[in-house]
Amino acid sequence: MVVRMRANRSKTRMRRSHQAISSGRLSTCICGALRRAHRACPSCGKYNNRIVVDVVEREKRLQRRTKKREKELRESGQTTGETKEKETAKT
Ligand SMILES: [Zn+2]
Repeated sequence: MVVRMRANRSKTRMRRSHQAISSGRLSTCICGALRRAHRACPSCGKYNNRIVVDVVEREKRLQRRTKKREKELRESGQTTGETKEKETAKT
């Protein structure tokens, strides 16, 4: 591009003043929690008034996985953050 056509700082900034990303729309779920529009509710797992995500089962799965990970860390000899906290509490 020729220097004559180059947009100056002011023109560049004026153009870019409209490029900001707005925050996503939030709506309230029937359970009362805030959720993003067109997404399943993270707290009750409902979408369009019917359950699409088993929240309780997901929580159980998450706990099982963290437990398994901690066990593997302990067996490999690495200490997790929780055990470190216990050690500091003793001293
Ligand atoms: Zn909900």
